[in-house]
Amino acid sequence: PYSLGRTILDYDARRSAWLAAHPEFPTRVAPADRPRVLVVTGSAPVRCPDPDGDHLLLRAFKNKADYCRVHGLEVFYNTAFLDAEMSGFWAKLPLLRTLMLAHPEVELFWWVDSDAVFTDMLFELPWERYERHNLVLHGWDAKVFEEKSWVGVNTGSFLIRNCQWSLDLLDALAPMGPRGPVRDRYGELFAQELSGRPPFEADDQSALIYLLVTQRSRWGDKTFLESTYELNGFWEGIVDRYEELRRKGRPGDLGDGRWPLVTHFVGCKPCRRYADSYPADRCRRGMERAFNFADNQILRLYGFEHESLNATAVQRVRNETGGPLDADDEELARLLHPTFRAA
Ligand code: UDP
Ligand code: MN
Repeated sequence: PYSLGRTILDYDARRSAWLAAHPEFPTRVAPADRPRVLVVTGSAPVRCPDPDGDHLLLRAFKNKADYCRVHGLEVFYNTAFLDAEMSGFWAKLPLLRTLMLAHPEVELFWWVDSDAVFTDMLFELPWERYERHNLVLHGWDAKVFEEKSWVGVNTGSFLIRNCQWSLDLLDALAPMGPRGPVRDRYGELFAQELSGRPPFEADDQSALIYLLVTQRSRWGDKTFLESTYELNGFWEGIVDRYEELRRKGRPGDLGDGRWPLVTHFVGCKPCRRYADSYPADRCRRGMERAFNFADNQILRLYGFEHESLNATAVQRVRNETGGPLDADDEELARLLHPTFRAA
């Protein structure tokens, strides 16, 4: 069967040895003493067929740059096909493997789909909660292990630890992904074995759920299914509520339905024709609103805001004082000089 590369067996020992020899690259970072994290995202090497697509990708990346700056996270944007077999949603596998081996100093990789938008600029992940786990996804135990639902987790935004277990997981997923007949056959298998799944080619999310369900003892213990906040929030129920969220709440504390950390445009395919499940204008309008809602959290720091969530135009919302921003607005102070940001 297909594999991502040579089998690696002694990775944890090799990584430890490298870390011992390079104390200048610690796996934990100040000031909050959290794990060193690399945010990984990407898009196809070629331009989008949709004339609006590349502009949407630019704004989606601008949004990630904002979140990562506020939180002191490094970010890697990939546009190369590292492995011809692992096209489309499978491209994250060889990429994560390559980055793991090249960056032993990184403790956690945070994969974020191009079409996932950070909509809470302040919310910091509860890193300690995941100390004993190697994979963190948005999802629900019952949906995965009882219902075997193909949407029991979402692989658009997840954490994976830099360790042997994770390399093994990538190795276990990869044989289901090579494009062509193998991928098609696994797609049929997943449609049979997982509930609610249409019979299209195998995707990484179904493959992961299939592994969790069929080999729970191997993978289940180290996998954390998070549902207390929206590590992945499904866009449909969110995008019409942003004004209401702003009226009722504030960012940074919840990350859940009351102010979702992530709004993910699943099924919208901004870079292809909006062929899929949702009308193009609904997707497009929702994205516009998500980008502007997130951008407002940044612009407000500098005294501006979008005139509306549906408009690119901005207006002043604060007079210039000539001095540093007063710390009387707590949201602004916390975003400008976050206590959790690495020095
Ligand atoms: N992706 C990539 N290169 C590609 C295709 C996809 O890096 O050639 C990434 C991109 O970030 C995308 C994710 O893989 O958001 C998931 O791919 P999919 O085709 O499922 O797109 P989506 O469902 O996010 O529209
Ligand atoms: Mn996506």
